Amino acid sequence: MILANITDGRKTFVLAHAVYCSALGRCACLRALPRGRTRAAVLSLDEGEELRVARAVLSVPAVARAVARGRLRAEEGLR
Ligand SMILES: [Zn+2]
Repeated sequence: MILANITDGRKTFVLAHAVYCSALGRCACLRALPRGRTRAAVLSLDEGEELRVARAVLSVPAVARAVARGRLRAEEGLR
């Protein structure tokens, strides 16, 4: 799936483990060395930027809201 930021500003979303990783079916959190702690992955889109993302991002409420409000455009990929 392609996600495009169609606003005039940078958008950043935290992909919370309990929501995003569950929907994805694997943990996408970032592991911070040296202590091995994890923190949620972050999705950042500059204005006008398009990114190929996993469909699971739509399970993150803030992302779904941004799509519903027309701030992000979600397109099905061709594969
Ligand atoms: Zn995770």
